[in-house]
Amino acid sequence: TAIERRCSGCGVSVQTESAERLGFAPEAALSRDPLLCQRCFRIKHYNEMSSVTPDQDEFLKILSGIGATDALVVHIVDLFDFEGSLIAGLHRFVGNNPVVLVVNKIDLLPKAINVNRILNWVRKQAKEHGLKTVEVVLCSAKKNIGFDRVVEAVAEHRGTKDVYVVGATNVGKSTLINRLIRDYSDLDAELTTSPFPGTTLDLVQIPLDDGRHIIDTPGIVYEHRLTEKIDKKDLNAVLPDKPIKPIVFQLNERQTLFFGAFARFDFVQGARQSFTCYASNALPIHRTKLERADELYAEHKGEMLSPPAKDRLDALPPLVKHAFRIPKGSLSDVVISGLGWIAVNSDAGAQIVVHAPKGVKVAIRDSLI
Ligand code: GDP
Repeated sequence: TAIERRCSGCGVSVQTESAERLGFAPEAALSRDPLLCQRCFRIKHYNEMSSVTPDQDEFLKILSGIGATDALVVHIVDLFDFEGSLIAGLHRFVGNNPVVLVVNKIDLLPKAINVNRILNWVRKQAKEHGLKTVEVVLCSAKKNIGFDRVVEAVAEHRGTKDVYVVGATNVGKSTLINRLIRDYSDLDAELTTSPFPGTTLDLVQIPLDDGRHIIDTPGIVYEHRLTEKIDKKDLNAVLPDKPIKPIVFQLNERQTLFFGAFARFDFVQGARQSFTCYASNALPIHRTKLERADELYAEHKGEMLSPPAKDRLDALPPLVKHAFRIPKGSLSDVVISGLGWIAVNSDAGAQIVVHAPKGVKVAIRDSLI
């Protein structure tokens, strides 16, 4: 019978089965003294950490726990997938605690953007989704843009409270927390002198000067994001890593755009107009006639229409249809969660149909750009 062993860094129970879960350590590390889970080992030796994916009940339990404490909540969302990464009903869990909304990955927007416009857009969207915020900050954790403001906002709004960082997976929570570790606390010293105290919630805590902590909660997995549905090998094609260069298509009605084999956009009816695609530039877009589209997909998915490549097509849920009418005179984005969006500047209105893998969220919103 195995004896339960705990990480001397964070106090979680150590396991060797799954690197994705909390408390993982490789077999070979078990004989080390002190014993550290891989996450604490990385923090200690490389000043970096990685996220874990706990089960979702666990996540909701942790979120609800925040409501019972006096804390500042930092909610990180991904600007590339705003709707897909926003935690709807956050207040139900975190109660009346103030929320700072940190919108990450602004480096992905085209260079010539108006920051104030984006900020206003985010405020309006957050409000529409029922999220009350004490502050909205735009940043890029990866490119270190706007990060000073994040640290300032946290310092300003937390007073002497603990800080809980919450977000969906893949929004850049680890990247951001790693920066906080570097810029905000003397972590190395803390780890060697007094290891992170373990908590009943098995959360990693980063000590602050005043005895308070920044508490990293596990990332919530939102299955409605394309990024959660596809093979990890295809993530690079879908997640942009450079500023997006929008691609404009002038389409007549009854024309179709394919985004690799992941999604399809049919312009069913309306006057000739332009459609501006904001997606990873590593994802090829293919234009065809609507009446050819079914056949083209059946014959060429995984080849001309790729990624995903043929051998990974089976893993992709079947495409299902979402029909929309874009109102006359509106500026709208048709959003495919995790893939990007198509901006429609429609004087005359348009009828469109999006085909996306089953379970992936597709929606219309006011234009971001
Ligand atoms: P987590 O799951 O929320 O902890 O997310 P990670 O920190 O692991 O990041 C998920 C992915 O987003 C990785 O591929 C990161 O490189 C990328 N990423 C994180 N922050 C940024 C950012 O500010 N800009 C861009 N373009 N990518 C980012």
